[in-house]
Amino acid sequence: MIMKSIHIKKNCIICISLLILVIFLSSTLIFYFSQKHLQSIEVNADSEEDYIKWVDFTVPCNVLKLTSELDINSHNNNEEITYNWIELLAYLACIYGGNFKNFQSSDLNKIVENLENGKTMEELTSTLTFYDYYLEAYSAILSGFIGNYAIETMNENNEKVFEKKYGLKAFSPIAKNYYFTHYKDFGNSRSYGFKRTHLGNDLMGSIGTPIIAVESGIVEQLGWNQYGGWRVGIRSFDGKRYYYYAHLRKDHPYVEGLEKGDTVKAGDVIGYLGMTGYSIKENVNNINVAHLHFGIQLIFDESQVDSPNEIWIDVYEIIEFLKTNTSEVYLSNEETKDYSRKYDLMEEFLTE
Ligand SMILES: [Zn+2]
Repeated sequence: MIMKSIHIKKNCIICISLLILVIFLSSTLIFYFSQKHLQSIEVNADSEEDYIKWVDFTVPCNVLKLTSELDINSHNNNEEITYNWIELLAYLACIYGGNFKNFQSSDLNKIVENLENGKTMEELTSTLTFYDYYLEAYSAILSGFIGNYAIETMNENNEKVFEKKYGLKAFSPIAKNYYFTHYKDFGNSRSYGFKRTHLGNDLMGSIGTPIIAVESGIVEQLGWNQYGGWRVGIRSFDGKRYYYYAHLRKDHPYVEGLEKGDTVKAGDVIGYLGMTGYSIKENVNNINVAHLHFGIQLIFDESQVDSPNEIWIDVYEIIEFLKTNTSEVYLSNEETKDYSRKYDLMEEFLTE
């Protein structure tokens, strides 16, 4: 009996110590993994705050016009209060939760009235949770559009002179005196290749129409792409916008000499409208209707380039807004049949 109970006791001790060991090991493991999990949540939370992941641009052309006129006129008339159209748009976006379908001009008038009565934008927007988000998002889209610049014009002696201006310095991607048509086609599905949505706006026009750089920047991509055909991608100087011009003309897609790394100015001729693309083979016309595919990608962090997290915005209303600000061109090289802009542009950061 005694032997047996000792034996049982011995077994019990082994059991208990094993149990303690198991509890100790498992709690160590649980602690380790929970710490790891917490760490990963923290990392995610940090990167979540770091940069904007998504932008839905719904501002209609008429609201772009109203706010840009307030901005441009107040600067040109040296008014006591100058308006910043991007701030006005960000404020309105807060009122509508980003959806400008609800736009009423009385809302804009009210903001203007408050600013005229001496309130600052900071005071007016201090309680609006998403104001900073919209300001950053819309700045990424529109900050290159309005500002100081100098453009060539003809003086009374029929000489070209630079005239300093404050105003719209972004151009329509279609040259002056060339027609185009377009409709709201952002997000439509596309059948070539894998199923995907349309991330730009198609501007239907005639083959050879000179294509204009909307904004100044650096040529980041140039060459053949299976979907875009002959295409060119131009990054704005602040790095936030990537302008994509695709399906350029077969055989002679780009303006003579255009290369990756080049600086282009807003209003420069960069290439010619065509119907290339939808082919692995280079220089193939596989698009049914001649058009320029135009797109704007927003980049808040370099990891968003060439990733599943690319942000392309609907540019239909932007094209509507820019279509009256066209760059005039002329046949400048009889040999290569290349066109150039007629009136040069200078921007502050280009004049150094
Ligand atoms: Zn397209």
